Amino acid sequence: MTTQHAEQTPAGAKTVLVTGASSGIGEAVAARLAAGGHRVVAGARRTDRLKALAERTAGAAARAGGSLEPVALDVTDRADVEDFVSGARERHGRVDVFVANAGVMPLSRLDSLLVAEWDRMIDVNVRGLLHSIAAALPVFGEQGSGHFVTVASVGAHEVVPTGAVYCATKYAAWAITEGLRQESDPSVRVTTVSPGVVTSELAGTITDPGAAEAMRTYRAHAIAPGAIAAAVSYALSQPPEVDVNEIVVRPARQR
Ligand code: NDP
Repeated sequence: MTTQHAEQTPAGAKTVLVTGASSGIGEAVAARLAAGGHRVVAGARRTDRLKALAERTAGAAARAGGSLEPVALDVTDRADVEDFVSGARERHGRVDVFVANAGVMPLSRLDSLLVAEWDRMIDVNVRGLLHSIAAALPVFGEQGSGHFVTVASVGAHEVVPTGAVYCATKYAAWAITEGLRQESDPSVRVTTVSPGVVTSELAGTITDPGAAEAMRTYRAHAIAPGAIAAAVSYALSQPPEVDVNEIVVRPARQR
């Protein structure tokens, strides 16, 4: 089965793992890469959404020699992330790219004291990223190659009211990914993609009414998630000696 698959995939096809592929940016990244001929392993908790995505992309992926495989994944569970990586490696022989995209954004002012939501952001946006690095790095080391892509945010560069904890998790994601880049052997490439406002379900995690209202205005000029998928695709398609370290993509109308 592996041999047959290898024969069908075009030269340059990679095994790409994407977390948070059930909606928004992760979904667009997974769909674009599968349609580009890559073997995509798409992880998230909502497997019904992943299966629907696999069905929608099956034709385009098959024509390009690629595939999209849905896998149940909770990035807050380290063992789950380990299985996500080891399972993909068993099925496809290697893991070329890990796109750490899963994230939540329940914005609120600090004095709202929504402490459980602060914990959730830390668990998904920071611990989930660390679990992903811990699972991918040993495989990259054994293979002598790999590419780690983190989806951070413009919130990794500036703090806004109601965004203290969310931005803190994104500053952390930026710092961890930059540290990974500095520590890595040249055979491992490291990219941070920092989106501005993008159409997705992200604001749906906001429970604080004031923050939700402010977001409706802030997100009025959102761009499509395909713009972020194009940035990821660009970073992946560079020759091995070229390491694209950070791409910031935001709406032209976002200042
Ligand atoms: P969505 O809410 O549409 O997607 C978030 C994804 O993360 C979903 O697929 C969700 O899947 C997944 N996810 C959440 N929790 C977990 C978990 N515990 N384990 C596995 N997957 C999880 O939002 P976006 O597409 O916008 O967000 C993607 C990334 O982009 C996030 O890191 C976000 O911070 C970042 N970003 C987004 C911006 C925007 O404007 N949209 C701007 C800047 C950055 P499921 O619930 O099925 O598990």
